[in-house]
Amino acid sequence: MTQPFIALTFDDGPHPVNTPRLLDLLKQRNVKATFYVVGTNAKRYPEIMRRIVAEGHEIGNHTVTHPNLSKMSAEGVRNELRVCHEAIVSATGVAPRTMRPPYGAITSAQKSWIKKEFGYSTILWSVDPEDWKRPGSSVVTSRLLSGAGPGGILLVHDIHAPTIDAMPSTIDQLLAKGYQFVTVTQLLAMEPKG
Ligand SMILES: [Zn+2]
Repeated sequence: MTQPFIALTFDDGPHPVNTPRLLDLLKQRNVKATFYVVGTNAKRYPEIMRRIVAEGHEIGNHTVTHPNLSKMSAEGVRNELRVCHEAIVSATGVAPRTMRPPYGAITSAQKSWIKKEFGYSTILWSVDPEDWKRPGSSVVTSRLLSGAGPGGILLVHDIHAPTIDAMPSTIDQLLAKGYQFVTVTQLLAMEPKG
């Protein structure tokens, strides 16, 4: 892929304070992102869920309780995905189209039946600045900028305030380099098939 498209993804929310602050920042820049929400938070903050969708962002399934799926039975995995799916649909009326396994932990067999049963593509990432270790906003920004490339998927967490603090500088510098922000589903649609 040579076009400078990039996807910004936010995991583990929504968060009652940090997610609305992030949405304000994204709106000011007309940047669309993808939110991999946890089902317990989706149920708790349906208004934030509706705001995410109303402002043109995408929501993906990140399970209900954030377990390591690779160590679970098919029935357990199915339940995690189904309950989160229902929480997203119940809050927003929009069905998620992709999932991200917590910790990136998933087997290839699981990916395959999840695609068949739920229609989900399993989405990991190309850049992980490890923002959850709280390295500081400027480090999060510099790691994202040095890892970013065309077709890239950036992973951060909208539950951490310093991550939100890092976003204006990160987004503005990527925009200055010519990147266009798209949702994960938009990015997938651009990938050459085959
Ligand atoms: Zn997560």
